[in-house]
Amino acid sequence: MAAHVLIVEDEEKLARFVELELVHEGYEVSKAFDGREGLQMAITQDFDLILLDIMLPGLNGLEVLRRLMQEHPTPTILLTARDAVMDKVSGLDGGAVDYITKPFAIEELLARVRVALKLHGKQSGSGEMGKDRQGEEGIYTWQKLVLNEKRHEVTYDGHLITLTNREFMMLEMLLQNQDIVLSRDSLLEKVCGYDYVGETNMIDVYIRYLRAKIDDAYDVKMITTVRGVGYVIKSETVS
Ligand code: CA
Repeated sequence: MAAHVLIVEDEEKLARFVELELVHEGYEVSKAFDGREGLQMAITQDFDLILLDIMLPGLNGLEVLRRLMQEHPTPTILLTARDAVMDKVSGLDGGAVDYITKPFAIEELLARVRVALKLHGKQSGSGEMGKDRQGEEGIYTWQKLVLNEKRHEVTYDGHLITLTNREFMMLEMLLQNQDIVLSRDSLLEKVCGYDYVGETNMIDVYIRYLRAKIDDAYDVKMITTVRGVGYVIKSETVS
């Protein structure tokens, strides 16, 4: 079963061009030309990935993203014409898995699509059945914290913790590698894709968000900073 990608983009020529390229790569593709239509399709169907333009008529991309994450969370890559840091930050905080700045080389877009699908379970456009990689394997715990990969859910002492996609991915990587110090670079690569060009201090920002939601909220110290290196979750805590 091919991965199904939704393109939400009001520049119809661009949308068609991207569609052709994706179909050529073996993906199944649907298109929407405005925000409302895009949101409607995105929440009523199960797409594997959404390419979402920010500057859209009807409903802008960030608003579409916000509602999508509330109603039907789906991996989303934002397309932004502006090199505005705020759009990117709000987009990533809002749950987008990546963004790409227009104009982009189609090879770059295809690479990011592959990375996003790989990180979220689908390997390629054709062939591979979207088989589940984990059964109970996808469950990671630390003290009272439980991360369930399959359900994309994190609880602490039974209380649900709402995380963005990136916060979730970062927490998952730390939990999978307990007692191993992960560098900012390796976290960035995992969370943003190997070809991501950006600031590694973005990782510090996401660590802050995670700490606010887990350490501060429940008065535990899950994530340890290793000065000059990165971060680690220690399986045995001293405190
Ligand atoms: Ca646009």
